[in-house]
Amino acid sequence: MSDCIFCNIVTGESPSHKVYEDDDILAFLDINPINPGHTLVIPKEHYKDLTDTPPELASKLIQTVQKIKPAILGAVGADSFNLGVNVGKKAGQVVFHTHFHIMPRFEDDGHKLWGGKQVAQDELALTAEHIKKLL
Ligand code: AMP
Ligand code: ZN
Repeated sequence: MSDCIFCNIVTGESPSHKVYEDDDILAFLDINPINPGHTLVIPKEHYKDLTDTPPELASKLIQTVQKIKPAILGAVGADSFNLGVNVGKKAGQVVFHTHFHIMPRFEDDGHKLWGGKQVAQDELALTAEHIKKLL
């Protein structure tokens, strides 16, 4: 058994409701769904988050999202979804094994998007300059 719950799901040592699998990628239902059909897409190999996942593998995650999205939405009667990636504890990451959330959305389902804050144009300009200097 690994310390990582998703690694244990990959090996089959922990149970899951799998919806898709290939050589590199696994998708299974989230145990605490925000809505029906809430699915997690993960690389089978362990990386702690999207930023340390090799680009080829990250690309396969996106390709898998594109491949399985019609079936997920079709199964639950949705035509919209949020794609979520939480990176780091403060952003809400709880499981430190790279994963995308596919979250089907419905009219008046009670969920909100994050709220934007009003800021001055010069503050945006300063932030943009700062970021560009660090690239
Ligand atoms: P995050 O906050 O992005 O790290 O999300 C982790 C997600 O994994 C949460 O939505 C949990 O409900 C989900 N989760 C944790 N353990 C399991 C499990 N054993 N099977 C399926 N989903 C899980
Ligand atoms: Zn893992």
